[in-house]
Amino acid sequence: MKVELQNLTKIFPSRNKKAGGEVVAVNNFTFTIPDGKLVGLLGPSGCGKSTTLYMISGLQQPSAGKIFFGEEDVTDLSPENRGIGLVFQNYALYPHMTVLQNIMFPLQNLRGADKMTKAAMLERAHQVAKLVQIDELMDRKPSELSGGQQQRVAIARALVKMPRVLLLDEPLSNLDARLRLQTREEIRRIQKETGITTVFVTHDQEEAMSISDMIVVMKLGVVQQVGKPQKIYDDPTNLFVAKFLGTPPINVFNGRVEGGKLYIGDAAVLDVPGVEDKEVTVAVRPEGFILDDNGALECNLSNVEVMGRDVSIVSTHEQSQNPVIRSIIDADNKIDLNAKSVKFSLKAHKTFLFDAKTEERIRFGEAE
Ligand code: ADP
Ligand code: MG
Repeated sequence: MKVELQNLTKIFPSRNKKAGGEVVAVNNFTFTIPDGKLVGLLGPSGCGKSTTLYMISGLQQPSAGKIFFGEEDVTDLSPENRGIGLVFQNYALYPHMTVLQNIMFPLQNLRGADKMTKAAMLERAHQVAKLVQIDELMDRKPSELSGGQQQRVAIARALVKMPRVLLLDEPLSNLDARLRLQTREEIRRIQKETGITTVFVTHDQEEAMSISDMIVVMKLGVVQQVGKPQKIYDDPTNLFVAKFLGTPPINVFNGRVEGGKLYIGDAAVLDVPGVEDKEVTVAVRPEGFILDDNGALECNLSNVEVMGRDVSIVSTHEQSQNPVIRSIIDADNKIDLNAKSVKFSLKAHKTFLFDAKTEERIRFGEAE
């Protein structure tokens, strides 16, 4: 089921009653989620991810805009009539019910033509329990389950009505690191097996990158960029997106362009043909540095961290906006650990320029 968001907007009265005013939680969001895909909604806390999800679910009414499931306008449909499955961060299971009862619960409320027999409900519940691999825990109470198992029950409960769209709001946040990794792979497997169109909300860029067919990056209610994870990483549209994706984070410098050359401090570090003279912000991915005795970018060496296959060089530079620069290079490179400084040249395709004021991307040396 494809899901189409048209100019979706949500305005709240400010929570701060004294200050008054309004909060534009989601601002003119237009996007089509392709049928059967998993889309990651990514952005920092407060950027409007949950509000977007709740509007898709019907729990919140948009202030403006429309929502379509397939060709059907669902904007005014109640949540029960949309055919959605919803999973929250805190699993919100009924504590006094067993796993089986929790999973079956949504089916018991079906009325009219949708009403199911007890046998059919049991069969369906066991089917989804099997899918999320909790079919051996059906008689337990939620308190007798681990966090990961509880979240599986919540996912089973969301799937039991065979929803048209699955909506997940930070479903892994309450799990420890190892379980988070395992459960996100599980969610991906279940999504692929069922082919249900899914929206996955997270503030964790690594999570979004690893699980999503497509990512939507949001900031202050406004969509910044939409695309495949790798494409957004390789080709960020503005400084915010460049900084939000990637671990270790991208390295940001003050720079300027003069006569087609990019300067950081007094050093001409890269040819940037076609860019007019101006102040710029330079962002270099950790893997964008090449250790080079003739390299123009000279940094003060702080530390070298060996990570097996790779080495992480930690250094500083007057013009760096980050406290330290982290560059990742192949462990075969020889580094003089006692040296005061380290010289780099830069890979052009891992170096991004942004307007120092607008923070919008400035492209160079491309055929476009
Ligand atoms: P996220 O899920 O990305 O953390 P939310 O969608 O929860 O963000 O919130 C987006 C913005 O809307 C925030 O500024 C938040 O404070 C505000 N907001 C969310 N819900 C309400 C509400 N019921 N009343 C007033 N403001 C709200
Ligand atoms: Mg939220």
